Amino acid sequence: MKETTILKVAKLNKSFQVKAKNALFAKPKQVHVLNDVSFELLEGETLSIVGESGCGKTTLGRCIVRGMSASSGQVVYQADDGNEVDFLQLKGKEAKTYRKDIQMIFQDPYSSLSPRMSVFDIIAEPLIANFKLSRAEIEERVTEIAEQTGLNVGYLKRYPHAFSGGQRQRIAIARALITRPRLIVCDEAVSALDVSIQAQIINLLKDLQEQFKITYIFISHDLSIVQHISDRVAVMHLGRIVELAGSDSLFGTPQHPYTEALMSAVPQPDPSYRKERIILEGEVPNPANPPSGCHFHPRCAYRTDKCSREVPELREVAPRHYAACHYAEQLELRGVHQDSAAAL
Ligand code: SF4
Repeated sequence: MKETTILKVAKLNKSFQVKAKNALFAKPKQVHVLNDVSFELLEGETLSIVGESGCGKTTLGRCIVRGMSASSGQVVYQADDGNEVDFLQLKGKEAKTYRKDIQMIFQDPYSSLSPRMSVFDIIAEPLIANFKLSRAEIEERVTEIAEQTGLNVGYLKRYPHAFSGGQRQRIAIARALITRPRLIVCDEAVSALDVSIQAQIINLLKDLQEQFKITYIFISHDLSIVQHISDRVAVMHLGRIVELAGSDSLFGTPQHPYTEALMSAVPQPDPSYRKERIILEGEVPNPANPPSGCHFHPRCAYRTDKCSREVPELREVAPRHYAACHYAEQLELRGVHQDSAAAL
């Protein structure tokens, strides 16, 4: 099957100015939350972004959809009319044409929906903002998308507080889908839900992907879900991508010690396959004062002097498998038992 690139993220940076507490006359410091993040996204795939809290994965998602402005870099979108546009620079008519193609689903279905709007109005809002449609056409589209996302059409005039967490996330998905986007950024989209509801929403997202050929960026800290849903996975540490590979390759043969440590916490369904959890030494480094060289070196069991001096580039260490570690080829790192995804 021919692979088509739908999005190219190139050298995306985001920094904030932060002033130290109780330091009235101190100069504010630059905190680099995203550091030259680059990757390509293929049409119809699910690329997961994983990493500990504070690694920059949510900021990355928000910068891509323009929920937050990036400090520099490009997000080049390949539109289905053949045009290639920098999504971050879109203005006027172009913005109206293309911005609806990329939508976002947020983590918390309780705060992401307006409590003052009916479910019908919440779902219809992006449609009204982007298209000139008659009332009958809007009703038809909202009813259709509500059915496709498993919502009870008879309850559309109710308000969000009348719905459970899982139902609210279905409302958020219906709202994201109503403009028929080609790409959806799911930011911890199932993290706030019970495990049984998580499985329903994940299956719904996969069904909708098949039906509408949607591309997903799936931001999550839950590696069990990521292993189940992803075609490829990018691992972020302190604002940089440190490993990027196909899901099987990354989970089976990780090439970066940070990924190995994250993997060691994934629950194993097969009791005969036991392994020790790797507990990372020390604190998550402060992004305002990152370690020299490889940012992971203070917590890495495999570090050498070179690691504290030289920043490792993200490079291809096996076919279509990229890692930012000086010793990726020499290290024999432990992955996850490949059957663990099937248990979900
Ligand atoms: Fe560990 Fe060195 Fe590789 Fe960084 S470059 S992950 S410190 S071995």
